Amino acid sequence: MIRTLLPSTLLLVSAALASAQETSPTHLDTTCVPCDDFYRFANGGWMTANPVPDDRASWSAYAEVNERTRETLRAKLWEAAESWESAATGSGERKLGLFFACCMDSERVEREGDEPLEALLSQVEMVRDTRTLAETFGSLHRIGVGVPFELGATSDPEDASMMIAELSQGGLTLPVSTWYLNEGEDFESLREEYLALVQRAFELLGHDAVEAGTKAVRVLELETLLARATMSREARRDPNRVTNRMTRAEVRAMTPSVDWAAYFESLGVPEPEEYNVAQPEFLTQVDHLLTDQAVAAWRSYLSWWLVRRASRFLDSHLAALDGDLRALWSGSVAPPPRIRMCESLADFALGETLGRQWAQASFPPAAKATAEEMVDNILAVFRDRIQELEWMSSATRQEALAKLRTMDVRIGYPDETFDHTALELHEEDSLLEMVADISRFRVDRDLSRIGRPDPDLWALNPQRLTGAYIPARNAIEYPAAKFQPPFFDANRDPAMNYGAIGATIAHEITHALDDQGRQYDAEGNLRDWWTDEDAAQFEAAASRLVEQFDDYVVLDSVRVNGTLTLGENIADLGGVTLAFHAWRRSLNGAEPDLIDGFTGEQRFFLAWAHNWRETIRPEELKTDVERDVHAPSYWRVNGPLSNLPEFAEAFGCRPDAPMVRRPDRRVRVW
Ligand SMILES: [Zn+2]
Repeated sequence: MIRTLLPSTLLLVSAALASAQETSPTHLDTTCVPCDDFYRFANGGWMTANPVPDDRASWSAYAEVNERTRETLRAKLWEAAESWESAATGSGERKLGLFFACCMDSERVEREGDEPLEALLSQVEMVRDTRTLAETFGSLHRIGVGVPFELGATSDPEDASMMIAELSQGGLTLPVSTWYLNEGEDFESLREEYLALVQRAFELLGHDAVEAGTKAVRVLELETLLARATMSREARRDPNRVTNRMTRAEVRAMTPSVDWAAYFESLGVPEPEEYNVAQPEFLTQVDHLLTDQAVAAWRSYLSWWLVRRASRFLDSHLAALDGDLRALWSGSVAPPPRIRMCESLADFALGETLGRQWAQASFPPAAKATAEEMVDNILAVFRDRIQELEWMSSATRQEALAKLRTMDVRIGYPDETFDHTALELHEEDSLLEMVADISRFRVDRDLSRIGRPDPDLWALNPQRLTGAYIPARNAIEYPAAKFQPPFFDANRDPAMNYGAIGATIAHEITHALDDQGRQYDAEGNLRDWWTDEDAAQFEAAASRLVEQFDDYVVLDSVRVNGTLTLGENIADLGGVTLAFHAWRRSLNGAEPDLIDGFTGEQRFFLAWAHNWRETIRPEELKTDVERDVHAPSYWRVNGPLSNLPEFAEAFGCRPDAPMVRRPDRRVRVW
């Protein structure tokens, strides 16, 4: 079944057919051969037509759809802002309208300057000893500022039906901990720029240059010491490395300088009996630093964190800090319009309510039915392929199949409405005070779950443009927002739906059995259910995939991190494979027509590539490579496809084409 089309004929055929939606010839770069560089072939035209906007670090299909969703939500927000006074007291409408109107009132924000920050800063200025420090950590944690460590509620790794307190590392401004430590001109100049920015922040708060300079040096020193004890992103991906159950007494013994009683009193939460301590070494380091570092250093550090986290909600001088800070690692970008921030904040405050209304109007039951049919086909194919895996023993196979059988698949939006009653906003408050109230509402709600059964709420709001696999619940969530073109269109060619949304749903499903997910059982408990031989087989395939991705050069000397991105690469490779065969299965033996000159197989792969189309600033790309567990979009397309004989066959690629790996170098996981 080899169907070769030369690029020149593709263009002619495509142009002749007006029905094109996503295989539109303007998206393609027909000067490029599909078998040479499929990403460029599929997306080159779109990329030329879509440079990165000035106020963004990147642009993509995801950004397009996000913007489309936001526009609908924006209309809703303006409506609420105009009529909040007449909305019922305590109603979500009223809170939403009041908050959005306050956020958009830039004149008031300018008038207030840094005044709203003063009360918070004065608490930091009162810090004298380890007790007042612990109290301040507590009050900062309540407003969502997680320094120098973080506390949250998480599923108990040993009994996933219960929630447990988790202590984890935090407190670094730069997005990658090694940036504080690495040698070399690039890192030194980055740290110098960062230092200058922190100094500027203190100057804006009224300190003279010398004083501000001293404070900035202390901040960088303290963060550098925290960075030394920070666990790498690669290590954090191993659930066993971040699982350390400890009792209250053990935590207290490990960190004698942390005044836990004062901390929890200030946080307003009872001190837990048991914890999961994700990074004990980090907490030990914090404990040392509490006595090793001068109290003045801690005051400077906490003040900086307050300014940096609050600056967006203050006057334009302070707000510019936030943009300049991000520009250090995302490339120079113009400040985004104020409305975008206010939309995000309104979403943070009342996103469940906002999203529910949106999803009820935009996610028809027919879309849900189509999606569920796709999921059924994907799961059926996944089960079949696991049955046929030669290397897997029957013991491991049974557990793997049980995980698929009991998987909770959540599509669209939850049935229950969300209760925002406890969120109180006051008209006379500044924007910063309102944001602090929203954070307190969120943090209180999260921490109130410690020691209780998991309420099993959805992790993602309906307007969130992402999917997730949640190991502790053995559940995938796929919110309504993903069901929009170019990811999904109920009226278009199913091959394209399977190639885009189908492959990303399958991606989430395979996370259940990736290098992380396979360590949890069907109940969501962290338990090793693999035989040694099966685990070795899986790891052999995984390590070959690590090598493949380690080899990809992103920019000059920057390469993809195959270890950091392993779970996502397994999911992409598995996802696109499963979705392809699920689509073939859905045909029930029928052969699809040519559309726009492309076969069904070709359209499937084009949809996968369109799904990841993106333009990105080089600075942002470099940063992503270090912090993102996903490989860059370009490699998410070309990487998996180069392993797929189905792809080579669909485009009639020669065995030595760049997009085709030699059979002995291909990786197949599922
Ligand atoms: Zn993923």
